[in-house]
Amino acid sequence: MTEAVRDHVRALPDDQLPAYVYDIAALRAHARRVRDALPERVELYYAAKANPDPQILAALRRAVTGYEVASGGELAHVRRAVPGAPVAFGGPGKTPGELAAAAGTGVTRLHVESERELRLLAGAVGPGRRADILLRVNLPVELRGVPLAMGGPSPFGLDPAGVHRCLSLLARPDFARLRLRGIHAHLASGLDAGAQLAVAERIVDWAVRLPVPIEEVNTGGGMAVDYADPAARFDWAAFGAGLDRLLRRHPGLRLRIEPGRALTAYCGWYATEVLDVKSAHGEDFAVLRGGTQHLRTPVTKGHDQPFTVLPVDDWPYPWPRPVVRGQRATLTGQLCTPKDVFARAVPGAAGLRPADRVVFALAGAYAWNISHHGFLMHPHPGFHHLGRD
Ligand SMILES: *Cc1c(COP(=O)(O)O)cnc(C)c1O
Repeated sequence: MTEAVRDHVRALPDDQLPAYVYDIAALRAHARRVRDALPERVELYYAAKANPDPQILAALRRAVTGYEVASGGELAHVRRAVPGAPVAFGGPGKTPGELAAAAGTGVTRLHVESERELRLLAGAVGPGRRADILLRVNLPVELRGVPLAMGGPSPFGLDPAGVHRCLSLLARPDFARLRLRGIHAHLASGLDAGAQLAVAERIVDWAVRLPVPIEEVNTGGGMAVDYADPAARFDWAAFGAGLDRLLRRHPGLRLRIEPGRALTAYCGWYATEVLDVKSAHGEDFAVLRGGTQHLRTPVTKGHDQPFTVLPVDDWPYPWPRPVVRGQRATLTGQLCTPKDVFARAVPGAAGLRPADRVVFALAGAYAWNISHHGFLMHPHPGFHHLGRD
């Protein structure tokens, strides 16, 4: 936890918990390091779906080339939060309205994911206008013998035969307002630098063999965040060096990547306090204020969310303070469901008492914005942005 976050959480009154605390200065520094590790010819887009908080989007502005959005809602939101920034618009299942909005508002790149989208788009671009598109390919890629989640049978993008059908359509005069810039792919998430590079090479090697000129390739996001080791970082230096070698083999090519999680996960914390401690049939539980309706990440990913305890020694009541007596405890929230678990039987919970503060790390991506906020009608957390300009 950064010092700014620790001080801030310590100073918050109980009734302002839970709270999301974002260290904007730390985010800016991290994004700058990522950018500096990449060759100049690699464009860095931020996948807004990881965390579309407007202050986070704005804080990234200097380090990123642009933003990747995956819905008409994200498109409008990003335009408001970072006016004038380049935007790439992707996502499976675009509506005719979304495609028309994207075509009409001069999106920097449109990621076309089906033949239907290509046809709708051709009809949506007005006279005298052009739309710059990438075809999203779903390329079956195996890594160490394991097929990637979004390559192979999946609803994302076009399989290679579909790409070739789209290329035939693009050669027709009625598709002349669509300018094919290149290929997009996003085949997996949670890959380390070596795996990311291997996948990027496969995509580029496939793309440059197409029978049309390919100026650019977007190899997607999915750079790993290790929830079991919050101090670990994706090896951006190794990845950047590898991309540099790849670009040397393809001197005319422009590469683009679009990470989400690996940019913003580290800048966010979910801070709360222990409400209750109990032992039931030999197992210890600490019940926290809030719940996974605010921080769904550990439930969706099936992991223990890493956390730090800030002990609070004041105890205002005349009766004995409960305490976790065992070596381990499970951290739960206030929801009436056994699924409301932040971390199960973890040693870091030993000794926890009501009123102690618990601060969950790696809560800056796929956290608040993927959570089911309305469930049980508990108050929403506060949002705190530290270290703004
Ligand atoms: C979700 C997504 C990303 C970002 O993925 P991360 O795992 O957050 O890096 C990038 N591109 C596309 C097309 C996506 O769907």
